[in-house]
Amino acid sequence: MTTNFALTRSFFHLPEGIVYLDGNSLGPLPKGAQARLDRVLEREWGEMLINAWNDAGWMDYSVGIGNRIGRLIGAAEGSIVVGDTLSIKLYQALAAALDLNPKRRVILSDTGNFPSDLYMAEGLIRASNKNLELKVVDPQQVADAIDDSVAVVMLTEVDYRTGRRHAMTALTERAHDAGAITVWDLAHSAGAIPVDLTGAKADFAVGCTYKYLNGGPGAPGFIYVAPDLIDRVRPALCGWLGHESPFAFDLDYRPVTGIERMRVGTPSIIAMAVLDAALEVWDQVEMADVRAKSLALSQRFMDFVDRHCPQISLASPRDPAMRGSQLSFRFPAGYAVVQALIAKGVIGDFRAPDLMRFGITPLFIGEAEIDAACQSLKEVLDREIWRQPQFQQQKFVT
Ligand SMILES: *Cc1c(COP(=O)(O)O)cnc(C)c1O
Repeated sequence: MTTNFALTRSFFHLPEGIVYLDGNSLGPLPKGAQARLDRVLEREWGEMLINAWNDAGWMDYSVGIGNRIGRLIGAAEGSIVVGDTLSIKLYQALAAALDLNPKRRVILSDTGNFPSDLYMAEGLIRASNKNLELKVVDPQQVADAIDDSVAVVMLTEVDYRTGRRHAMTALTERAHDAGAITVWDLAHSAGAIPVDLTGAKADFAVGCTYKYLNGGPGAPGFIYVAPDLIDRVRPALCGWLGHESPFAFDLDYRPVTGIERMRVGTPSIIAMAVLDAALEVWDQVEMADVRAKSLALSQRFMDFVDRHCPQISLASPRDPAMRGSQLSFRFPAGYAVVQALIAKGVIGDFRAPDLMRFGITPLFIGEAEIDAACQSLKEVLDREIWRQPQFQQQKFVT
């Protein structure tokens, strides 16, 4: 299949006059979301009331949506379940991985990981009373730090700040050779780059759906467990919907067979329905096409900056193989530059202390948008528009 990007673009509501380069933080609104929401509110919740759990397929969303995401990240049918948030799914994956490797006490991660992942690990360690240790090394040091003390290698494949990408297959192999289990966070991978969880022999993976997958603010997270591990996994969050027989209301917990044991409690059906509608566009898409276009657009952006914006420096790897689907540039007053760009209708974002981030999302971004963003960037820098006082005021969400 050759992906039709004019068609994918038509799936989204894109406000007039805006160049949206922040789909790596919050994807835009899929047009189909409104009709799906109307159906869920009016025909399902409104008319069917509680019968909708059985009759409108509400109970099937968690695994059904998981399979839809699975196609994009090389996961076998029935190996992903959707729900809760990424932070919670990470906690579950990490707890399960530690439980499978009980003689070891080190969780290895890196300084490129998203803080929430590290915080969840710290909290889990405190709750476990097992003298576990979180070891955080530089991203370049991860491979060498995998030794026979490491129980779990917990990494985010694509660094949210710079877009630097870990070699998932090689690191997973190295971890396995050392007797460690892997937990991969795909927050900036799913829908951004081709991922092959099966081919990489990944053990656990987690991700969110509101970034490149466009599922909406606070859309549910997902968890993958390798099919050969799933029935050996003992869930740490023993919610009733992961029980073998939730409606038996037994007093003791027995996990159900298969990936549904990673479910916890009642899912937000409204959020699930919107996410399911958002995933419809992905059924028309080949990740290899998305990747090729992402790299071409990124190259176009980098070439322009090299030629016309000497004030800023590239923070992302130049080598496409080492990069996800975003570009980051360093500039001391990066926050003010991003604010000045937003005032011109070019939306990127900022990560402290000095990183300006631009998400490259080919489903709805093409050469015209990249060129417009580049021209605005050059103007803001050359004319020092960012120095204006209104662009200095720091907001809570950057
Ligand atoms: C976005 C992101 C999160 C956010 O987690 P939530 O629970 O969805 O708020 C966590 N980890 C990584 C790597 C992320 O990029």
